[in-house]
Amino acid sequence: MSRLGLRNDDTCWRCNKGRGTLFHMLYECEMVHNFWLEIITCINNILETDLSVNPAICILGMLPLEVNLSSKVYCHGLILRVDLTVLQLSVH
Ligand SMILES: [Zn+2]
Repeated sequence: MSRLGLRNDDTCWRCNKGRGTLFHMLYECEMVHNFWLEIITCINNILETDLSVNPAICILGMLPLEVNLSSKVYCHGLILRVDLTVLQLSVH
Protein backbone atom coordinates (compact mmCIF):
# COMPACT_ATOMS: atom_id res chain seq x y z
CA MET A 1 0.00 0.00 0.00
CA SER A 2 2.85 2.39 0.75
CA ARG A 3 4.46 1.61 -2.64
CA LEU A 4 1.21 2.61 -4.30
CA GLY A 5 1.18 5.85 -2.32
CA LEU A 6 -1.96 4.80 -0.45
CA ARG A 7 -0.27 4.83 2.98
CA ASN A 8 2.62 6.72 4.49
CA ASP A 9 4.28 3.63 5.95
CA ASP A 10 4.35 -0.09 5.19
CA THR A 11 2.62 -1.23 8.38
CA CYS A 12 -0.45 -3.42 7.87
CA TRP A 13 -3.54 -1.20 8.05
CA ARG A 14 -5.61 -4.05 9.51
CA CYS A 15 -3.54 -5.09 12.51
CA ASN A 16 -0.97 -2.27 12.72
CA LYS A 17 1.58 -4.91 13.72
CA GLY A 18 3.14 -6.56 10.69
CA ARG A 19 4.69 -5.20 7.54
CA GLY A 20 1.91 -5.00 4.94
CA THR A 21 3.43 -7.28 2.31
CA LEU A 22 1.23 -9.27 -0.08
CA PHE A 23 2.04 -12.43 1.91
CA HIS A 24 1.04 -10.70 5.13
CA MET A 25 -2.19 -9.35 3.64
CA LEU A 26 -3.21 -12.72 2.12
CA TYR A 27 -2.12 -15.09 4.87
CA GLU A 28 -0.04 -13.87 7.79
CA CYS A 29 -2.20 -11.06 9.19
CA GLU A 30 -3.92 -12.37 12.29
CA MET A 31 -7.32 -11.17 11.10
CA VAL A 32 -6.97 -12.98 7.76
CA HIS A 33 -5.30 -16.00 9.36
CA ASN A 34 -8.32 -16.52 11.65
CA PHE A 35 -10.52 -16.37 8.55
CA TRP A 36 -8.36 -19.08 6.93
CA LEU A 37 -8.66 -21.23 10.04
CA GLU A 38 -12.44 -21.12 9.69
CA ILE A 39 -12.35 -21.83 5.93
CA ILE A 40 -10.02 -24.82 6.26
CA THR A 41 -12.05 -26.16 9.19
CA CYS A 42 -15.19 -25.86 7.05
CA ILE A 43 -13.50 -27.66 4.12
CA ASN A 44 -12.30 -30.42 6.45
CA ASN A 45 -15.81 -30.88 7.86
CA ILE A 46 -17.47 -31.00 4.43
CA LEU A 47 -14.91 -33.19 2.66
CA GLU A 48 -13.87 -35.21 5.72
CA THR A 49 -10.24 -34.27 5.14
CA ASP A 50 -7.50 -33.26 7.56
CA LEU A 51 -6.00 -30.27 5.76
CA SER A 52 -3.81 -27.92 7.75
CA VAL A 53 -3.75 -24.16 7.44
CA ASN A 54 -0.61 -23.29 5.48
CA PRO A 55 0.34 -20.82 2.76
CA ALA A 56 0.71 -23.54 0.11
CA ILE A 57 -2.99 -24.34 0.44
CA CYS A 58 -4.36 -20.89 1.26
CA ILE A 59 -2.42 -18.81 -1.27
CA LEU A 60 -1.39 -21.27 -3.96
CA GLY A 61 -4.23 -23.80 -3.65
CA MET A 62 -1.73 -26.67 -3.53
CA LEU A 63 -3.59 -29.61 -2.02
CA PRO A 64 -2.06 -32.92 -0.85
CA LEU A 65 -2.01 -35.78 -3.34
CA GLU A 66 -4.38 -37.86 -1.21
CA VAL A 67 -7.24 -35.37 -1.78
CA ASN A 68 -9.39 -36.76 -4.61
CA LEU A 69 -9.96 -34.83 -7.82
CA SER A 70 -13.56 -33.74 -7.21
CA SER A 71 -12.61 -32.45 -3.76
CA LYS A 72 -9.67 -30.58 -5.29
CA VAL A 73 -11.98 -28.87 -7.78
CA TYR A 74 -14.30 -27.83 -4.94
CA CYS A 75 -11.39 -26.62 -2.78
CA HIS A 76 -9.70 -24.69 -5.61
CA GLY A 77 -12.91 -22.82 -6.37
CA LEU A 78 -13.49 -21.99 -2.72
CA ILE A 79 -9.85 -21.01 -2.05
CA LEU A 80 -9.75 -18.80 -5.16
CA ARG A 81 -12.96 -17.11 -4.06
CA VAL A 82 -11.55 -16.49 -0.56
CA ASP A 83 -8.27 -15.11 -2.00
CA LEU A 84 -10.20 -12.70 -4.22
CA THR A 85 -12.38 -11.61 -1.31
CA VAL A 86 -9.33 -10.99 0.91
CA LEU A 87 -7.70 -8.97 -1.87
CA GLN A 88 -10.85 -6.94 -2.44
CA LEU A 89 -11.11 -6.21 1.28
CA SER A 90 -7.43 -5.20 1.30
CA VAL A 91 -7.99 -2.50 -1.31
CA HIS A 92 -11.19 -0.98 0.13
ZN1 LIG B 1 -1.83 -7.39 9.56
